[in-house]
Amino acid sequence: MLLRGVGVGRGIAVGPVVRMPDPLPEPVDEPRTAAADVEFSRALAALGDVSRDLTERARRAGGEAEGVILTQSMMTQDPALIDDIHSRIDAGGTAERAVFEAFSSVRQMLLALGGSPADRAVDIGDVGQRVIARLRGVEPPGVPDVEGPFVLIAGDLAPADAAALDIGQVLGLITLGGGPTSHTAILARSKGIVAVVGVTDATGIVPGTTVLLDAGEGTVTVEPTAEEITAARERLVARRVAVPMGPGTLADGTRIPLLANIGRPSEAAVARDLGAEGVGLVRTELMFMGATIAPTVAEQQAEYRRLFAMFPGKRVVVRTLDAGSDKPLEFLPTGPEENPALGLRGIRATRMHEDVLRDQLAALAAADAETDAEVWVMAPMVADAEEAGYFVSLAREMGVQVAGVMAEVPSCALMAGQVLGIADFVSIGTNDLTQYTLAADRQLGSVASYADPWHPAVLRLVKMLGDAGAQSGRPVGVCGEAAADPLLAVVLVGLGVSSLSMAPTAFEAVRTELRQHTLEHARALAVRALAASTAAEARALVRE
Ligand code: PEP
Ligand code: MG
Repeated sequence: MLLRGVGVGRGIAVGPVVRMPDPLPEPVDEPRTAAADVEFSRALAALGDVSRDLTERARRAGGEAEGVILTQSMMTQDPALIDDIHSRIDAGGTAERAVFEAFSSVRQMLLALGGSPADRAVDIGDVGQRVIARLRGVEPPGVPDVEGPFVLIAGDLAPADAAALDIGQVLGLITLGGGPTSHTAILARSKGIVAVVGVTDATGIVPGTTVLLDAGEGTVTVEPTAEEITAARERLVARRVAVPMGPGTLADGTRIPLLANIGRPSEAAVARDLGAEGVGLVRTELMFMGATIAPTVAEQQAEYRRLFAMFPGKRVVVRTLDAGSDKPLEFLPTGPEENPALGLRGIRATRMHEDVLRDQLAALAAADAETDAEVWVMAPMVADAEEAGYFVSLAREMGVQVAGVMAEVPSCALMAGQVLGIADFVSIGTNDLTQYTLAADRQLGSVASYADPWHPAVLRLVKMLGDAGAQSGRPVGVCGEAAADPLLAVVLVGLGVSSLSMAPTAFEAVRTELRQHTLEHARALAVRALAASTAAEARALVRE
């Protein structure tokens, strides 16, 4: 059986399927019917079971993970936590609800402390979920604890689950939801995990069945034959005629710097090892995801300094906080929104909380002054020249040297000439630009086929920006996932893009493809793609 989705990267994976359990709903706050001592004994038994289970897992995991899991196991035996559960049951709650509330209150307390205690908030949340699952007699949520490598199927993954995937164990990832630009797909790419997303028909795959994922083709073959596996491996070999590591260069010598997309300073070393010529997108909101209060200037400055120090003399493009929609930050609240992707996101949210934006810009300027990186700062979700003007003048006031904007809202591309009259540079976020141009939610598997950056409508907007860049003499780069698609990367260059930023795992494939084309050829391919009427046609015309 052959299922279709959208591939992330070009890899191939074969293995047995393991299904990720659905997240547990919050236990209902209702009065208990059982006696308090019966309910408390149930809670104690579940805590004990989870403790033993985690200790066993820690022993099996060994290495660094052993200590982390043992600490989780000890959390279940914390006397203050057990007392709290006891009093909540005495006050009339069920064991599930009491466990939920007691763990949540510890979690909140850790989050409020910030720094390294806040990192433990995720761990305690996970333990609480395990205890509730045990009380209900269901599988605990999160990546299942099974031996041996497997292909994981999930509805979609929370960013924390995606970030925690163990590449030694997870051979591949199939998601029912999410498009190729969802944050799950982005994290899978950055970890080099073969993924096919938006496979809406994958619900029927029975756990344990062998599947073959071909991300290059965007297919999942259920129970593949030996011949099908061999053919897929041959396709993989054919895709890998890599050129040696080095700068991004076209066949005629035109330089197209290959920059890295990263979420934390700790990812910088890997990016450098894989040949990053700098950093084209730092998603700063990912650095402060768990924080309940805004990080101070000093805290931020220390993080940025650590990152900049790794790229002396190199460009590092930092994006100011892109809070909202699928990346909410507690310290930048937006209020309830029916359609968060169309709500207070990016610059809209930080403009409302200007003190937070000012602090971030001050920290960036200070860290820039302390290091030798060439620091550029940009704002996400800028809609027009007025918003670009607001950001650029605030950034300059706070001491930022180079201030630009992301073009990811179609209006920004339509007003490209005006915007590039103000911003020092533009970086195109093709993920959101595609989502908004085609009105296709990037988180939604059912519309993943619409959210295709090959669509000529998206390419026309990129061309407007490329032309405005050429006219103003200001750089226009791409930092969306489109830059990681080797052939599309060539088309983007043909449309006037002068740098490409992507997950470092994509460098090899993009570097190899760029070397096959001159600038003139890239422009000819761009003309072909622009003339197509659908994304599929554009892709097919260029492939030819
Ligand atoms: C984009 O929208 O293309 C982008 C790079 O930003 P993010 O994926 O973080 O929204
Ligand atoms: Mg974006």
